[in-house]
Amino acid sequence: MPQADLVILGGGSGGYACALRAAELGTSVILIDRDKLGGTCLHRGCIPTKALLHAAEVADSARESEHFGVKANLDGIDMPKVNEYRDGVVARLYKGLQGLVKSRDITLVEGDGRLVGPNTVEVNGEKYTGTNVVLATGSYARTLPGLEIGGRIMTSDQALNLDYVPTSVIVLGGGVIGVEFASVWRSFGSEVTIVEGLPHLVPNEDEACSKALERAYRKRGITFILGTKFASATQDATGVTVTLEDGKTLTAEILLVAVGRGPNTAGMGYEEQGIAMERGWVLVDDHQRTNIPGIYAVGDITPGLQLAHRGFQHGIFVAEDIAGLNPAVISDVNIPRVTYCEPEVASVGLTEAEAKAAHGADAVTTYEYNLGGNGKSQILDTAGFIKLVQLKDGPVIGVHMVGSRVGEQIGEAQLIVNWEAYPEDVATLIHAHPTQNEAMGEAHLALAGKPLHSHA
Ligand SMILES: Cc1cc2nc3c(=O)[nH]c(=O)nc-3n(C[C@H](O)[C@H](O)[C@H](O)COP(=O)(O)OP(=O)(O)OC[C@H]3O[C@@H](n4cnc5c(N)ncnc54)[C@H](O)[C@@H]3O)c2cc1C
Repeated sequence: MPQADLVILGGGSGGYACALRAAELGTSVILIDRDKLGGTCLHRGCIPTKALLHAAEVADSARESEHFGVKANLDGIDMPKVNEYRDGVVARLYKGLQGLVKSRDITLVEGDGRLVGPNTVEVNGEKYTGTNVVLATGSYARTLPGLEIGGRIMTSDQALNLDYVPTSVIVLGGGVIGVEFASVWRSFGSEVTIVEGLPHLVPNEDEACSKALERAYRKRGITFILGTKFASATQDATGVTVTLEDGKTLTAEILLVAVGRGPNTAGMGYEEQGIAMERGWVLVDDHQRTNIPGIYAVGDITPGLQLAHRGFQHGIFVAEDIAGLNPAVISDVNIPRVTYCEPEVASVGLTEAEAKAAHGADAVTTYEYNLGGNGKSQILDTAGFIKLVQLKDGPVIGVHMVGSRVGEQIGEAQLIVNWEAYPEDVATLIHAHPTQNEAMGEAHLALAGKPLHSHA
């Protein structure tokens, strides 16, 4: 029976990061995956969607070139060619990842794994035993009761493989995945309508960001219906008809169902082995330990933010915990979040509402620096802001941003929040001119009581 210090079920962001770090620490690792190493993020998530968003940005640049005095025409979108570019990016990263795993002497096993004992995973009739086991089987695209995926009704998995630009799309769900696809398709020329049951797009973000994104989407000609629930959908040879709970009907060429992702845990033996679960999620303590000694869980199968970098950090944490390195516990609240639509939304820490609920309204100060005063943002012709949430006379506990390319500012934002910096600390640091990053400095200068290119 093949044995190792660590058996990892699932080679996505969480699983492979755990494998790489564990191997680095001298732990022997068996990594099992039934599909391609890299998981959702590399093959069906982060990377391919961001390649599409970059192609969308190129299309927007061509369409808007006249504004910058450049003569160019957008003749159309060659979707097979866009997909070829996207696949090239994925293929290079996939090759690199395979090389990394090989170079660290990790045993990669291909096949469907099932937990058959507290320290054993069975694959193709073979049992693999580890001193510790890590569950990292990820998530799948959910749908709604009565809404069957197929034909013109699709999730992000099928939408990514379209070889044409749909003339019209209904996007069910105004969360991260919904607004990203809406952004791509609008840039490629589709008529897009988003239906969201909650009162705002990106409803988990600070309300100021949601409202700014809604303004920008309205300007881009993206239609959205908020606070309205889906009732039913039918499809025929020409399109999809969606009926909403208020009786309104919408028609389009395709329907993207982007209503969230569920844990990929069914039928894998977890319940049979007595692992504590809730509605399919694997429950863990703050050390990613399940209730069964020696079994850990990381990434999207654990309740919380579904982000690749959270999975990476979980994986690294578990490898280091097993090696006795006493790594820092990961808290979801200070994990950076970026929604890569146009304009981008990026945030870390508490929203204004969360901060007020946690600390009391009087204990919280906010400041919004408008990108109108930022030279580089003016050059890029983007609108938006950087909003800071501060504990009065204390550290910055939330940074919330909207604007083209603001996702690139999340690195400094997360250092500020995670290092519990005070506005005065950041105000002494120098931000290069002219960059969008300067807006981060300006916002903190203002909050520290010494605004430069803004009013207090
Ligand atoms: C469209 C889209 C866009 C996204 N964009 C971003 C983004 O920009 N940034 C970001 O941070 N996150 C993004 N995400 C989320 C990100 O992809 C996930 O958070 C991340 O992939 C989770 O990693 P994981 O290791 O938990 O699971 P996964 O990446 O899903 O990996 C799970 C792995 O387990 C394998 N597996 C499952 N069951 C078994 C079994 N029984 N036997 C063997 N193998 C099994 C699967 O084949 C898979 O490889 C996006 C997701 C989607 C769908």
